[in-house]
Amino acid sequence: ASTNFLNSEKENFKVAIRVRPPLEREIDPAYGFSSIAKVGNDQNTITLLDYLGSATNDMAREQDIYENPALCNYHTYTFDHVYDQNATQVEVYETTARPAVSSILEGYNATLLAYGQTGTGKTYTMEGFKYDSNDSQRGIIPRAVEDIFKFIESTDNSNCKFMVRASYLQIYNENISDLLKNDRVSLQIREEKRKGVFVEGLSEWAVRSPSEICSLMQKGELARATACTKMNDMSSRSHAVFILIVEQLTSVEESTEIKVGKLNIVDLAGSERVRVTGATGKRLEESKKINQSLSALGNVIAALIDTKNRSHVPYRDSKLTRLLEDSLGGNCKTTMMAMISPAFESFSESLSTIKFANRAK
Ligand code: ADP
Ligand code: MG
Repeated sequence: ASTNFLNSEKENFKVAIRVRPPLEREIDPAYGFSSIAKVGNDQNTITLLDYLGSATNDMAREQDIYENPALCNYHTYTFDHVYDQNATQVEVYETTARPAVSSILEGYNATLLAYGQTGTGKTYTMEGFKYDSNDSQRGIIPRAVEDIFKFIESTDNSNCKFMVRASYLQIYNENISDLLKNDRVSLQIREEKRKGVFVEGLSEWAVRSPSEICSLMQKGELARATACTKMNDMSSRSHAVFILIVEQLTSVEESTEIKVGKLNIVDLAGSERVRVTGATGKRLEESKKINQSLSALGNVIAALIDTKNRSHVPYRDSKLTRLLEDSLGGNCKTTMMAMISPAFESFSESLSTIKFANRAK
């Protein structure tokens, strides 16, 4: 059954939406909070409410507005999974990330992408609170590593050896740098038959236990934060890619069988549309690069899904898609998780996020 599963192109592309809970500042002390995102009971549909004309946060009339089509527009979309604000980290991991982790243990590559406006929960979903391996709010990266080690420990075969390695890089302004080394040298992407696509000179760190991942994440986070203070919120303007490679060596009589799986966990740059008119110089260049690479990603996914039009997949249009070339499509499980805010003020960004995700279905 698992072979069929992996062979089905449709099964390998999943799109999930996650609505984060309201932040304290979004909650009105008098009225509380009313979400513009309604999640269907089946967890497959999401409806965004667009208040017509009378743009209001007046919670007193919330129910009237929701139930009166004359007062609001409904935008309903269907996805593989929609998580409402009460979804827990463990639930999101189990239902959306675990299949990708299982597939890398079978020797396939896989990619998990977090898309959305800044402040919607991309880093929370991918990393969570990473300094404590028991924290229920830890995200996908630590849970993936825990699962990998559970698998290794449960493999009762002395002829089987495992190697787990991690790398962490950033793509900023189409320049790749290593988040686990102290220099900020710009690195190049290469491809070799045996190794697949890789970043030349990127450090790889052996991981011997799940707890070791915490210090790597912390180190990378620090590197991102340091760059931030110098260049005003760089972390929301760069893509961060966490790469986990699992190598399995099994001796069978005289020969050795090798299985290698690579999992890319991508925390994308904030998708908010930058008003190009206001931006100048460096900021404008930066914004153009972000827009280009996010649309390149959308185009690659659209081309992979369109079975009639798969002859040309434009991987070369950005560093990110080039880097993911051997980890998207085919037998590679790819899951896009699009995050949105439930707040009224974010309506148009949330709708544009949902439209982007809808194109990737
Ligand atoms: P992004 O990486 O998309 O910019 P963050 O992950 O930093 O956003 O999240 C913004 C804020 O919202 C953080 O304070 C984070 O802890 C909080 N947050 C996001 N998603 C959730 C969630 N599902 N549950 C609780 N808090 C969340
Ligand atoms: Mg973030």
